[in-house]
Amino acid sequence: MSAHRYAVFGHPIAHSLSPRIHAAFGAQLGIALEYSAIDATPAEFAGALQVFAAGGGRGANVTLPHKEQAHALCAALTPRAARAGSVNTLTRVDGGWQGDTTDGAGLVRDLTGRHGLDLRGRRVLLLGAGGAARSVAPALLDAGIDQLTIANRTAARADALSDLLGDPARVHVRYLHQLDELGGFELIVNATSAARGDGPGLDLPRSLLAPRAACVDLGYGEAAIAFLAWARAHDAAQAISGLGMLVEQAAEAFEGWHGERPDTDPVYAELHAHEVGLHAVE
Ligand code: NAP
Repeated sequence: MSAHRYAVFGHPIAHSLSPRIHAAFGAQLGIALEYSAIDATPAEFAGALQVFAAGGGRGANVTLPHKEQAHALCAALTPRAARAGSVNTLTRVDGGWQGDTTDGAGLVRDLTGRHGLDLRGRRVLLLGAGGAARSVAPALLDAGIDQLTIANRTAARADALSDLLGDPARVHVRYLHQLDELGGFELIVNATSAARGDGPGLDLPRSLLAPRAACVDLGYGEAAIAFLAWARAHDAAQAISGLGMLVEQAAEAFEGWHGERPDTDPVYAELHAHEVGLHAVE
């Protein structure tokens, strides 16, 4: 029997770690699978996905810049994808695609399981209101945080996310230029892609860090260096890259597709050693 086909779609996608992670999970559990990285521009994405399905594709991850398009073309959504308005995992069901989002569950599992954080009662600052922020915000609220303050460069997107969350007692929106008026947070989540652009990046006041604060950048490798360096320079108790979240969201997708949960620790350890060696981020 030939291996079942899976893939990650993005643009660019050449440096994605997902093929390596899914291959390692498959090898660990003795599940034969083929997982490739498919580069498609936004104009090509829907067609490429059709060709993939026609060729036996059973499941796909989607990353930048396709998450919104993937969300729009799904025939069905899991409750958490509908709530987040964001999709990163597609599964072939009854001739169409079912969309799920595993990013939020992946982040919470990484923070609580791997890094030992108790999220209950925490005051949390979420920087950004894009696809990743939309996915992690409901998961953080479900994990029992006390307050979620959202600050985004485009204020209207932060308002839209707040409306989507529908939890006005716990969710507040603030402007990025007001950050020095907000006091300290016990957890700061950088869900922006500021480090990937050519601009000056984020300008964050030290006052954002409460004593023993933890900082997490959803990016990893080079993309996480600037924010994690800021956190360490100001004595944050923990400075965590998005690598663990990446491995955990992959495990969540893998379990949905194959019905078995891989052990993420050895896969994380190998990638983390590589990340530390290359970029000294953690
Ligand atoms: P996205 O939908 O394009 O959103 C990008 C966000 O960054 C928006 O909030 C945007 O603000 C903000 N931003 C961009 N440039 C900025 C700048 N110069 N200053 C301030 N804010 C800026 O991207 P995404 O899918 O949410 O991804 C965000 C990050 O999360 C990326 O680094 C991605 O790699 C990472 N991620 C990691 C994982 C993982 O598994 N570890 C999973 C998903 C995403 P505007 O609204 O004003 O444009």
